[in-house]
Amino acid sequence: MSKLVSDQVPSRRQFVQMGLAGAAVSLLTGGMELAFPPTAAAQSTLTPEEALAELMAGNKRFISGQLTSFEHDLAILKQHTVDKQEPFAAVLSCADSRVPVELVFDQSIGHIFVTRVAGNVITPEIIGSLEYGAAVLGVKVILVMGHSGCGAVKATIQGKEVPGQISSLFPHIQPGVDRGGPNLEAAAKANAQIQATLLREASTVIAQLTKDAKVKVVAGYYDLGSGAVELLT
Ligand SMILES: [Zn+2]
Repeated sequence: MSKLVSDQVPSRRQFVQMGLAGAAVSLLTGGMELAFPPTAAAQSTLTPEEALAELMAGNKRFISGQLTSFEHDLAILKQHTVDKQEPFAAVLSCADSRVPVELVFDQSIGHIFVTRVAGNVITPEIIGSLEYGAAVLGVKVILVMGHSGCGAVKATIQGKEVPGQISSLFPHIQPGVDRGGPNLEAAAKANAQIQATLLREASTVIAQLTKDAKVKVVAGYYDLGSGAVELLT
């Protein structure tokens, strides 16, 4: 992914206008291909594999400090997403403040349908939200993303007394701890994989879309230190 630095490429405003008019923009300028993140109107043209590749390409830009999402004209993006949204991906992440989903994937307004809950666990409300993202909005990929240093997973491993309803999260995360063991990273990764499997199986809507190859559900792990998202298979 190249950043908009060359004067061979259109101005930011021209780019945004072109992006909004077209699909995922790829320009050939002087033999150099410049691929840009998809715009809010881009999802309909992407396959599940392309949508996943777009997310991961954004994460590479994030890691290398070559963010392009802030170069989008936010005012224009907002204007064009007031009445509708066409995100190309959905992400279920933890509520942890160190996991800013759009930033991690270098995406802007209208690009990612985000659901967040401590421990990135599948609940009926989360399933309902992601079904809306997939069946109504047409996202092509759903990423269930755990992360390093997850407090919810850590608390489940420790199993200590906690105030209020915090412990209501534990039964959701326990299968990940059972599979991954007491190591925090292993448990968080196992939890993400288990939640992704749960989503595929518990949602008849998403199960059908997956069967029809219209949506891909994947699990991932975000490393707070490096900023890298690793896909878990
Ligand atoms: Zn967490």
